[in-house]
Amino acid sequence: MAFEGLSERLQAVMKKLRGKGKVTEADVKEAMREVRLALLEADVNFKVVKSFVDRVKERAIGQEVLKSLTPGQQVIKVVNEELTQLMGGEQSKLAQAGRPPTKIMMVGLQGAGKTTTSGKLARYLMKQNRRTLLVAGDVYRPAAIRQLEVLGKDLNAPVFSLGDKESPVRIAREGVEKAKQDGFDYVIIDTAGRLHIDEAMMDELKQIRDTVEPDEILLVVDAMTGQDAVNVAESFNRELGLTGVVLTKLDGDTRGGAALSVKAVTNCPIKFVGLGEKTDALEPFYPDRMASRILGMGDVLSLIEKAQEAVDAEKAKELERKMRTQTLTFDDFLDQIQQVRKMGPLEDMLSMLPGAGQIKGLKNLQVDEKQLGRVEAIIRSMTPEEKMHPEIINASRRKRIAQGSGTTVQDVNRLLKQFEDMKKMMKQFSAMAKGGKKKKRGF
Ligand code: GDP
Repeated sequence: MAFEGLSERLQAVMKKLRGKGKVTEADVKEAMREVRLALLEADVNFKVVKSFVDRVKERAIGQEVLKSLTPGQQVIKVVNEELTQLMGGEQSKLAQAGRPPTKIMMVGLQGAGKTTTSGKLARYLMKQNRRTLLVAGDVYRPAAIRQLEVLGKDLNAPVFSLGDKESPVRIAREGVEKAKQDGFDYVIIDTAGRLHIDEAMMDELKQIRDTVEPDEILLVVDAMTGQDAVNVAESFNRELGLTGVVLTKLDGDTRGGAALSVKAVTNCPIKFVGLGEKTDALEPFYPDRMASRILGMGDVLSLIEKAQEAVDAEKAKELERKMRTQTLTFDDFLDQIQQVRKMGPLEDMLSMLPGAGQIKGLKNLQVDEKQLGRVEAIIRSMTPEEKMHPEIINASRRKRIAQGSGTTVQDVNRLLKQFEDMKKMMKQFSAMAKGGKKKKRGF
């Protein structure tokens, strides 16, 4: 996960401060020396580091902070606020044109993730019921058009394409025209990147920009390239005037420097971050949440949003009722597994919990995806009757289920036992709950 090293180091510095009843100016200076090193090591631009540390020092050494009842906490609060500010302060939302379609032009170097991000963005907008048209304008990278078409098909998003023989300017113009005619809310134009910044690319992008007059020019950059990403952003911004940045591959082990420097160096806000190859791995960027995550204060808000997105409220209610009335079946169990899986890797979710970084061994904790897969296969090999009434699953049925699911009888036994234990536990819970109610009434 990104920011791991930086996060660990900053948390160590903050822990030292938190433990102190009295914090002196020298303590703050010492802490800031360490913060400075940690940021430089995370590949944050050195000018950005200097002004960040200066600002924190100035505010932290101020009388109110050091004389307060919890000086350590106050210094941490200052660091958190300044880190948030560094990444742009407020969340920077996607533009919305007064009259649809809102035109989004995607730019960036080859391999940064432009085509993938175009698809992700379409999915994101469509989830909010915005009709979105994708325009395949990357005529240079082999297979880019095909890639977008496949993405569009998966997502059920229409893709406008004129093949790779037409000029990108014409493709963009006609794509926007089509979006207007057909009443789309958004049109996302994937443009051609190059391996390096060159004049021909910039000229072409300028022509597209001047032709379609986009509401957003989003630069897609690879977070793994660190300072290079910041330099690329600077050039694109100077030449084209960007409205925002999408930082991809933040799921890799990038040190995080780009995320912390882009806004300060280019004054362009990060609007989204890419956290994986799949189309659902795109999140709006919230500077405050990211700062809290880096400082180990957790990001409970994002966790709740993820849960809300994955869990169907109606299903949750139904499950609660079944637990209460002890009528849980294997179908419900399967449903549960699938809902949890939708939330993404458990590891990522845990990293959003406050203080998670300090729990030893958490890093080594990985959900056994294979094990979950086995459980799913076993349940799918049961007959509807067996799922409803597992007590009828005798020895020969167990053998059949194991064979059908490519597992062993031991695996099947283990699952049946777990299910039984779970039911027993629910019985106890509901007995306790009933007992509690009776008692209350008795008083
Ligand atoms: P383009 O040349 O800029 O259009 O780049 P692509 O969209 O083809 O992406 C290049 C590679 O990066 C592909 O293998 C993508 O799957 C991968 N990629 C894109 N975004 C992410 C991300 O957020 N995380 C990870 N891990 N991979 C990504």
